[in-house]
Amino acid sequence: MTVSTAESAGPATRQDPPPLPASLDAHLTAAETRATLRVQNRMLTAVRAFLAGQGFQELLPPLIGPVTDPGIRGSKQVDVDFYGHKYKLMTSAILYKQATLAAFDKIFYIAPNVRLEPLETAVTHRHLAEFHQIDVEIRDARREDAMALAEALVSHTVAEVLRDMPAELELLGRDEDALREAVTSAFGRTSHEQATAGLVELGHPQDPGAEIDWRGEEILSAGSRRPFFVVDYPKGSRGFYDREDSQRPGVLRNFDLIAPEGYGELASGSEREHDYATLVTRMRETGENPAKYGWYLDLARRGIPASSGFGIGLERFTRYVTGRTAVWQASAYPKLPGVVSA
Ligand code: AMP
Ligand code: MG
Repeated sequence: MTVSTAESAGPATRQDPPPLPASLDAHLTAAETRATLRVQNRMLTAVRAFLAGQGFQELLPPLIGPVTDPGIRGSKQVDVDFYGHKYKLMTSAILYKQATLAAFDKIFYIAPNVRLEPLETAVTHRHLAEFHQIDVEIRDARREDAMALAEALVSHTVAEVLRDMPAELELLGRDEDALREAVTSAFGRTSHEQATAGLVELGHPQDPGAEIDWRGEEILSAGSRRPFFVVDYPKGSRGFYDREDSQRPGVLRNFDLIAPEGYGELASGSEREHDYATLVTRMRETGENPAKYGWYLDLARRGIPASSGFGIGLERFTRYVTGRTAVWQASAYPKLPGVVSA
């Protein structure tokens, strides 16, 4: 992958986000929304058929629990009163995915997530307060297995949409050639270290020890014609469940999948930490109180299987495939951070 300048930013970047429509029914009945949601439906049938063909079991995801993915980048969790106990709406079902591998080797959810993202993310084109993940986990798999599966799943889904939904793509003005070109050859791969160095060279002030910021991610995305992976994020930038590389302390065995044309991150994944003592240490290092994670750490003490997995943001994936300007346009019932709506 080559990093080119921000001037090559695609059509998806640097536009003001389109305003939310006046009402939910105006949004739902717009020809563009209907076409986008028909494509999303086709994507979901493609995802389910593809994963079923690979031996995956679909489960219905949990909505609430005593604890959830602590997340990063400043998003807040939503509390629910569960008979006098403080429960959380799922920010992601990662802890449950790991638990389920005791019963099934290959699993996935189409999982709703709620995250009160910082107000400033309402204008990134990429953030919703409520979204869905195609959430996949594979027992005894390495990071590379999860990356190969994510690549095959994205390519297959895009190919099915190109084959079956030309009328919708045309109505939406999607550049079908760009989409086709994006998935006809192998996805690229770069390291977090290389990606951040490339950004600094371009004059973008990116901290090499931190998560790539929204603007940096958009610059990287806009400079590529194909989806690509960024691997090996530094320890401080991710949650306690991303496994540290035993050969390279401080480097995590994780990845992001970035869409081309400025659409930004599609998925995050990793090899998972499952060792009890390491989990407790990593929780402490990431500022989490292990006492909150009772059921999960009890399970870890009894033994969580090794695994790798990933979550693809469904609305972000739909936005990329349909070429919409903002991610909320790929949701039937959009909730933008801080915006009171239906
Ligand atoms: P994360 O675990 O935070 O990387 O989330 C997994 C995937 O979900 C990301 O790669 C995105 O595609 C998607 N995602 C995360 N946060 C949001 C959000 N606020 N709005 C829409 N999609 C999101
Ligand atoms: Mg991520």
